[in-house]
Amino acid sequence: MIKVLVNGALGRMGRTVCAAVNADSELELVGAVDVVEGSVEGHTVETNLDAALKKFQPEVMVDFTRPNAVFGNVMTALENKVSPVVGTTGLDADALQKIRDAAEKNSTPAFIAPNFALGAVLMMLTARKIAKYMPDVEIIELHHDKKLDAPSGTAELTAKMISEVRLKHSQGHPDEVERLEHVRGANVDGIRIHSVRLPGFVAHQEVIFGGLGQTLTIRHDSMGRDSFMPGVVLACKKVRGLKGLTIGLDKILD
Ligand code: NAP
Repeated sequence: MIKVLVNGALGRMGRTVCAAVNADSELELVGAVDVVEGSVEGHTVETNLDAALKKFQPEVMVDFTRPNAVFGNVMTALENKVSPVVGTTGLDADALQKIRDAAEKNSTPAFIAPNFALGAVLMMLTARKIAKYMPDVEIIELHHDKKLDAPSGTAELTAKMISEVRLKHSQGHPDEVERLEHVRGANVDGIRIHSVRLPGFVAHQEVIFGGLGQTLTIRHDSMGRDSFMPGVVLACKKVRGLKGLTIGLDKILD
């Protein structure tokens, strides 16, 4: 049994992860942490991560907290030689480098996935393939209105994956003018990302390719938070066998 502690255990994702860990025969939920006290899946929720890691001695800490807290949580886990499995988005390149260094220094593997849903990973891999042939592309991501950061980590990673393969390319009209600020969305390596935040959505993304007289759209919809659970469970099982920092669910799929 792999011992797992869940951080952010009282949140929307945290509660779902606690149930998924409890339901898996190879994982054992040994502790739960959040900023406020409570209980989840029969565990009393602790409020001090460092103390809880020392008390419960997990092998893995799953983190679904907040963009402003995740970096400190991951560093605390690594200092305790506990492997972080991170779903919280919002880590920038500088933070990722520091995590990479800390994982190596502490000889403790770490895993981060901007999206734990298998279908979303397949969408990103497919988008990368299509972009070789149809390099004009824009991304629309749609999430619930409680999401704190924009764009989504998935949209940003999709844009990065596309720009790895498409030839140097400038799209849109060179004389285009934005008459309203940001109306054309964010620009990641020349790819526009548009973020929608509305009640009713969970996590959705469209990647739209345009070509001569045709468009091609691929779309992924997470209908509920359970869509992320097989990926989280898989990462908990695989993380201790990895080295340093691994980013992306595609890296651990067979
Ligand atoms: P949420 O419902 O707000 O849950 C976050 C929980 O963490 C809350 O209970 C929050 O408490 C708690 N928290 C805040 N700071 C903390 C800290 N320092 N230590 C411990 N707990 C802390 O949010 P969510 O919808 O579950 O999403 C959590 C994160 O996961 C977001 O960044 C979201 O974008 C990301 N996400 C990723 C994936 C993926 O596949 N990678 C999928 C879905 C969501 P308070 O409410 O009191 O602050």
